[in-house]
Amino acid sequence: MTNIILLGPPGAGKGTQARRLVEERGLVQLSTGDMLREAKDSGTEMGKIVADVMARGDLVTDEIVIGLIEEKLATAKANGFIFDGFPRTLAQADALASLLKRSGNQLDAVIEMRVDDEALVDRISGRFTCGKCGEVYHDKTKPVKVDGTCDECGSNDLRHRADDNAESLKQRLMEYYKKTSPLIGYYYAMGDLFTVDGLQEIEDVAKSIANVLDQATAS
Ligand code: AMP
Repeated sequence: MTNIILLGPPGAGKGTQARRLVEERGLVQLSTGDMLREAKDSGTEMGKIVADVMARGDLVTDEIVIGLIEEKLATAKANGFIFDGFPRTLAQADALASLLKRSGNQLDAVIEMRVDDEALVDRISGRFTCGKCGEVYHDKTKPVKVDGTCDECGSNDLRHRADDNAESLKQRLMEYYKKTSPLIGYYYAMGDLFTVDGLQEIEDVAKSIANVLDQATAS
């Protein structure tokens, strides 16, 4: 069992790298952002509650996201999990530690993907995803091969996220620095933190993450 957290601001590349790890290592990606967007799109009660909060770029309550993760950990069968966009607060980090402990598991590595704020604005404003398979693209750095069509699954459902705009991004960054960045110190103190340079090319970030995982799982 290998359990990894990908930690970093919006646009750091967590989702892109998580998807690679799913393919290469057979891990299961647990993205609370994806789960919340699904709830919103399918119009559940919870989806209605979180829609405005997400559009503004604020964090959803700890209770809701911890509940989502708890449910997935109890039901998903996996060799391990990649936590993408969770935990985002110290309360969520504590809850995750208890949930893993309860099932006899532990965290292997927390990978901080470090990028500078200037790069985030560019990355987020050009980003779009496939609504069917979740592949992530970028207007400039990773365009689709055929206009309007996903390279991976052929779907024409390519979408820009509602919260990928300048105003929400500002608030998401603020939330990141206020509530999520303290987790870097927290996991450093626990001895679980590894940092990779998220400004490298996608392939090179993947290599850096692979090195970290080899190191973390060998010890
Ligand atoms: P993401 O796709 O990870 O960028 O998340 C999109 C939005 O979903 C965030 O801006 C928050 O509003 C909400 N969200 C996702 N994960 C969490 C979390 N762990 N805690 C609180 N809110 C979250």
